[in-house]
Amino acid sequence: MRPAAALPSRRLEEEAHGGVLLVGIQQDARAQVLHLSRNKRYTLTPEKLKWDKFKLTYKLLSFPTNLINASDTRRGLAKAFGMWSDVSPFTFREVPADQEADIKIGFYPVNHTDCLQSYLHHCFDGITGELAHAFFPPTGEIHFDDDEYWIVGNMRFSWKRGVWLTDLIHVATHEIGHALGLMHSMNPKAIMHLNATLTGRKLITQDEVWGLHRLYGCLDRLFICPAWARKGYCDSKRRLMQRHCPSSCDFCY
Ligand SMILES: [Zn+2]
Ligand SMILES: [Zn+2]
Repeated sequence: MRPAAALPSRRLEEEAHGGVLLVGIQQDARAQVLHLSRNKRYTLTPEKLKWDKFKLTYKLLSFPTNLINASDTRRGLAKAFGMWSDVSPFTFREVPADQEADIKIGFYPVNHTDCLQSYLHHCFDGITGELAHAFFPPTGEIHFDDDEYWIVGNMRFSWKRGVWLTDLIHVATHEIGHALGLMHSMNPKAIMHLNATLTGRKLITQDEVWGLHRLYGCLDRLFICPAWARKGYCDSKRRLMQRHCPSSCDFCY
């Protein structure tokens, strides 16, 4: 039992990233300084790991032990995937667990899959601390810490249970970003910020959209947009570009 007098402190979601991943973050963080004036703060993996298709499937290999049931878990994950398909060319479809899927999702105890042997994949830390972690493409796995108390709704402390209740949609949205190839953003408002679960920022921001554009390219409504961008219309005819060419215009800023 926890002492009821003090709220347990909540450590960062993923501060125990493996050594290799941390090197990647620092290398790219230095490169980001060049882009500060353009407000792009997203980070891609150094190898630019990405999917080679936009129609992705996912499957659930296990479900949470605490609080929410299987159908709410499915609903929460579908909502999180929907947030990404709303702002990108990706579509996501759940398939049965016995079929092949691009993104494999599970709720796991401290010791799970190969975490004891692999130096890239660490084990979980029990309740609070790390909530989940994900693998970049094309591995595409998302592991949720099954010691957490998962809910669909705002993260809050339950005095009755003496535990933090964690919003599955919020954490899943962040982890799906990793599974699509985004690392942590320096933008404190981004859902890909390391502290997104602490700040309560739940929405996918322009920063994530820019990151996906950089990684996957983008689709403009008008064929003529790239030519307009080359002519400098992003600056001289900004209104026109924003209306008709959201993607190429985004590249201008
Ligand atoms: Zn894991
Ligand atoms: Zn993260």
